[in-house]
Amino acid sequence: MRYLSTRGNSPTKSFTEILLAGLAPDGGLYLPESYPRVTSAELTEWRELSYPALAFKVLEKFITDIPAGDLKTLVDRSYTAATYCNLRPGDAADEITPLRTLAPGLHLLELSNGPTLAFKDMAMQLLGNLFEYVLAKSGAELNILGATSGDTGSSAEYAMRGKRGIRVFMLSPHGKMSRFQTAQMFSLQDPNIFNIAVRGVFDDCQDIVKNVSNDHAFKERHRIGTVNSINWARVAAQIVYYFKGYFAATKSNDEQVSFAVPSGNFGNICAGHIARMMGLPIRKLILATNENDVLDEFFRTGVYRPRATAQTFQTSSPSMDISKASNFERFAFDLVGRDGASVRELWGKVDAGGAFDLSGARHFAGIARFGMVSGSSSHADRLATIRRVWQQYQVMIDTHTADGLKVGLEQRESGVPLVCMETALPVKFEETIREALGREPERPAALAGIEDLPQRFAVLAADAQVIKDYIAAHTTEPPNHHR
Ligand SMILES: *Cc1c(COP(=O)(O)O)cnc(C)c1O
Repeated sequence: MRYLSTRGNSPTKSFTEILLAGLAPDGGLYLPESYPRVTSAELTEWRELSYPALAFKVLEKFITDIPAGDLKTLVDRSYTAATYCNLRPGDAADEITPLRTLAPGLHLLELSNGPTLAFKDMAMQLLGNLFEYVLAKSGAELNILGATSGDTGSSAEYAMRGKRGIRVFMLSPHGKMSRFQTAQMFSLQDPNIFNIAVRGVFDDCQDIVKNVSNDHAFKERHRIGTVNSINWARVAAQIVYYFKGYFAATKSNDEQVSFAVPSGNFGNICAGHIARMMGLPIRKLILATNENDVLDEFFRTGVYRPRATAQTFQTSSPSMDISKASNFERFAFDLVGRDGASVRELWGKVDAGGAFDLSGARHFAGIARFGMVSGSSSHADRLATIRRVWQQYQVMIDTHTADGLKVGLEQRESGVPLVCMETALPVKFEETIREALGREPERPAALAGIEDLPQRFAVLAADAQVIKDYIAAHTTEPPNHHR
């Protein structure tokens, strides 16, 4: 399997060559040269597999330059019952992503039982093991630099903690995260994890990461890398749970299933699109946005109009507060018939801060064949959905999952099972749960009292040079060297 760039002007690469890379040299995103197809015999065989065994079968089709035995070990290590231990009562311990049936034909796929209670763990855990493996082969080191307002940063830290050859430097706005999120990150005592509380806001943190990334000499000297959402391995890892969800919601491979997906950067639903292209019988992929509805607007009108950061609304489903969907270019590449020149032209406009309009284009007219439909949700919708699911089914869902379910129910077709992706647990969004239900969210036993654990972090000025000095001072000794 080789990987090409969506902008058509970069040489093809193997999986391990793009694993640690960000954008392709021409500014595009990497995608498989062609999507592997699953046969009906494979679907029949895969239906019976455990999550890790299924993940290996799916990933083996995309990762052809890691020996099968090694890949199997890495996948098994990423999906253990011990890592996905925040199950609700009634879930089987080794299910990893159990399907929770609300009513006949209406299900939630629980993707949030990992260490940080959000579905990002599903991909990040695999990434941690893949990074460690590939770095060990080349004897190289990697220093991951990131900015977080909560979710992605903690997921990355829990995936990279204790990994040989890897350090994580994670910037967060000092005193701006919830107590729970702060405790999740700052209670990690692993010597390769560096929590940096920046005296500033999230945008300051992001600006510092950009500044450091643009200092190519520093970046090279200190082997700085990222784990952002455009990473191909993160998308690939997510393809698996569409297969898992499909098998759990059906009895035979003649049935179709629709998935509702709370979306921000288009990573999760992009994986669903690829599963569908592989031949998984998915009827519809239902994209849900919150008030930040750039993607919903595109699927309704054909106009893609990314907003400026200042125009992004802060909502009660904050992980979907995205004004420019970083993975959307992957779907657009398929939509325009895999023509890199067209993508270059469209993203020439986007990268210059503009928009594009495909409403009159031949390709947009054929969009139905990709099964994508969309809708958006508001704070009031979110509260109403959380309340309704609690009252009707005695199940507590988080704000993002509520957005997915709201739009999913609007687009639901009779006779077609609907699986809504559960992307986080409610305990992460206490305030909105209290507002919706007038009670405290449920908290998994493993996280009781996490706020009282000792915390390990440095408080630094919102100044790129100060951060660089800190990184330089902490990258001289080997990672995981105990002081
Ligand atoms: C990241 C995230 C999303 C959005 O997923 P994308 O892959 O960026 O579309 C939705 N819900 C939660 C809880 C998230 O953390």
